Amino acid sequence: AMKHLPYFCRGEVVKGFGRGSKELGIPTANFSEQVVESFPPDISTGIYYGWACVGNGDVHKMVLSIGWNPFYRNTKKSVETHVIHTFKEDFYGEILSIVIVGYIRPERNFDSLEALISAIQEDIEEAKRQLDLPEHLKLKEDNFFHLPEGKIVNHH
Ligand code: ADP
Ligand code: MG
Repeated sequence: AMKHLPYFCRGEVVKGFGRGSKELGIPTANFSEQVVESFPPDISTGIYYGWACVGNGDVHKMVLSIGWNPFYRNTKKSVETHVIHTFKEDFYGEILSIVIVGYIRPERNFDSLEALISAIQEDIEEAKRQLDLPEHLKLKEDNFFHLPEGKIVNHH
């Protein structure tokens, strides 16, 4: 699961397939099909942690899921980022830049919504702890997050 990491990626945030992530209090910013297609085909599905930045905004901790996309009968992957930050507004159509730093766990099914939500809360806590380690913290300052001038206009 670690062989492609750290993995740098940038792309537009598109509408997902209405899993109701936001209703669970854990919205996930979905990448477009083209961005997902550009991922290494053998990258493991599961939950990862890393750094994320919307437009030219601040860099925040994130948890990310690489899963199977129900839209394509689970033959294609989906990549969804939950940024660990409270935004004032949605950011569909904006450019999300991420660096995937580490792997937390494989995908799995849960018996109840409560079990799912508590697993995600644990993933978020694990991501926060891991990302405070010096070797992970340094990626937050990576030049990758400094976008070329004039390209991104919105500020968060
Ligand atoms: P969708 O199915 O369209 O992906 P979600 O319920 O997963 O809908 O909500 C995702 C959207 O919520 C993102 O595209 C983004 O515009 C917005 N959003 C607001 N706060 C966050 C956040 N902290 N992390 C990720 N997305 C967020
Ligand atoms: Mg989503």
